Amino acid sequence: MIAGAGQAGGRAAEALRARGFQGAITVLGEEAHPPYERPQLSKAMLHSPDASVTYIKQARDWSDVLNVRLETGAAVIDGDADRRTVTTADGRCFIFDRLLIATGTRPRKLAALEGSGIEIQYLRNVEDALRFRRSVQHRSRIVIVGGGVIGLEAACAAARNGCRVTVIENETRLLARAFPPLVSDLVAAKHRSHGVAFVFGATVTGATLAGVQLSNGETIEADLVLVGIGVEPVPTVAERLGLPSQGGIAVDACGRTEASDVFCAGDAALQWSRCHGRAIRVETWANAQNQAISVATNMIGETKAYNDPPWFWTDQYDLNIQVAGDMLDSDHIVRGDERSGKFSVIAMRGSDVVGALSVNVAKEMAMLRRVIAANARPSRADLESPAYDLRAALK
Ligand code: NDP
Repeated sequence: MIAGAGQAGGRAAEALRARGFQGAITVLGEEAHPPYERPQLSKAMLHSPDASVTYIKQARDWSDVLNVRLETGAAVIDGDADRRTVTTADGRCFIFDRLLIATGTRPRKLAALEGSGIEIQYLRNVEDALRFRRSVQHRSRIVIVGGGVIGLEAACAAARNGCRVTVIENETRLLARAFPPLVSDLVAAKHRSHGVAFVFGATVTGATLAGVQLSNGETIEADLVLVGIGVEPVPTVAERLGLPSQGGIAVDACGRTEASDVFCAGDAALQWSRCHGRAIRVETWANAQNQAISVATNMIGETKAYNDPPWFWTDQYDLNIQVAGDMLDSDHIVRGDERSGKFSVIAMRGSDVVGALSVNVAKEMAMLRRVIAANARPSRADLESPAYDLRAALK
């Protein structure tokens, strides 16, 4: 039984069949869609009026090819560990032998806006992306709350469509949790060159139909507000199954929770990260896919630890920025010439490479991910030298 029909739930179901599991597989998903790819919702789908959603499989292939029972529009809201059941919002009860919780996360809401009358949008699912795409086509005045990946990719699409865009970020710079200051500055400059305005160190305290009020006393006119202030785990069956949330559902490296025969994968799983030196929830496409595949194999009796360093990418204008591991609380080495617009920043703690960020050097990031995953220890001098072949660190 798989609760959640997103990237993690879908890939887990596929992996179970690929590993030869022949028993019944049921996937229960809240959305009306079969599992689909989320990254393009804030990228291609906003930029191109013709771009449509990419499904992991066509709806009928789940049953006809994989013999998987996929129930869409079936949010799992309750569970019973003793009876080994989960219940959906429409009252149906399903029995499981093994359960994978892959219910993911949902956008954090901004309470200050509720009831103000101004149009509020979030960007998480297909319908959100289509709605925001329609809005940006009308050259609206848009306030974006949150200068993170979602807010900035949305800002990029809106600016390119001629909208007047202001991004409100409560930190003093963009993507402060993942980017070093020099890259935050580079991204801000790129957006400004496309007409995007920023307000830092402030948040939205209220709104009227005409615009939003900020904590610094400013008022900004707006037709709509897009909120991208992070995500939180969907309240799931976990608590009902005796798994209290610790900011996520704690799992071991095999994806096992503390409840017998209950596993968790994707955004909701709180898993150990060597790069971070603590347990974190990894809210990335790569984790939703690869951790779920790994956990699925453990559900059918294998013991396969998942240790991939976290990795994500963002595309904004002509910038492709990728981040692996942890960039915080570390020394940073710049590799390449930042003025060329193609460089990497490598994060070190002692002699450990714990993170890396690449700007328009995707090939180098592929190597850096391998260096981090292998816990390789090239010297700082080698890393600083663009002439140093990173493959040497893996020998
Ligand atoms: P992020 O956590 O990336 O960014 C949210 C930003 O908003 C942070 O800088 C945060 O600052 C700021 N913020 C929080 N509260 C407020 C507030 N009240 N007013 C102003 N600013 C605020 O979340 P996103 O919403 O951008 O992204 C959500 C999810 O998208 C990810 O968690 C992940 O699931 C998915 N994702 C998307 C990717 C992409 O689009 N390329 C890549 C990877 C994942 P602070 O740090 O202080 O809270």
